[in-house]
Amino acid sequence: MQIDWLRLLMLTSITVSIGVVIYHVVAGFYHYKYYVRRAGNPETWKIQPKRFIKPAMHRNSIMVGTANLVLGGLVTGILVYAIENGLPTQLYFDVNEMGWAYTLISPIIYFVVVDASAYYVHRLFHQRWLFRRFHRYHHKFVATTPYAAVAIHPVELAAQQAAAFALIFIMPLHPAVIGCVLVYILVFNVIDHSGVELPSMWPWQAPTNYHDDHHVHFHVNFGQHLMLWDRLHNTLRRERRTYGKDVFGGRGLANPDDPGENPFVDYKGMHRT
Ligand SMILES: [Zn+2]
Ligand SMILES: [Zn+2]
Repeated sequence: MQIDWLRLLMLTSITVSIGVVIYHVVAGFYHYKYYVRRAGNPETWKIQPKRFIKPAMHRNSIMVGTANLVLGGLVTGILVYAIENGLPTQLYFDVNEMGWAYTLISPIIYFVVVDASAYYVHRLFHQRWLFRRFHRYHHKFVATTPYAAVAIHPVELAAQQAAAFALIFIMPLHPAVIGCVLVYILVFNVIDHSGVELPSMWPWQAPTNYHDDHHVHFHVNFGQHLMLWDRLHNTLRRERRTYGKDVFGGRGLANPDDPGENPFVDYKGMHRT
């Protein structure tokens, strides 16, 4: 097969730019709004007001995050090129093929399935060996920052991306639907790592302290956007249980003075005021 290098370069430039620009615009916005403009009074906005990452770590997260989006964008661009050149998928390009009703419902299904796969892949990376080998880097950020959202090991990025893209071979999807859902995921991933105390922006979206707690307590709250999977699998943080770096499994340890299961932490309830 003859490779059209110019077309491939054009496609990869577009996919790389979209990811990198969204990442820097959203992360830059939260960084400037809080870490620069309100640096003097973190207790009014920061989930962990006493904990800040070192400048070297901050620079490292921007470099690794940008490199990951370049890598992810390259893979996406190559995939688009392969599809253009006959790779068989379930994608459709004319809305009339599946109808408007299906096209409007499909992002919800796609989002829920990708969010579920993000939960399971993330939980897998919290197995002792995989955690120590790959996922530990992301957990160096006990207090997260907007740029830390995609500061992950490339192996993890590949696993998450493969799970998100596998669906194009299984489920009829319009490319615009995939684009919108992936942009949403990236934007909210940055917001969830902002370290800023923010309520749920949408009824289904967890508030920021849910994933922030994942970084504080390590092996609990594995979900990305929906808290549903953690509730279902009993891995949502519970009140008065002990969690930590060496407490694997997602359920924490029972307090000897208070051995009950205890209720789940009410993340949304914290923001009722
Ligand atoms: Zn994790
Ligand atoms: Zn994280």
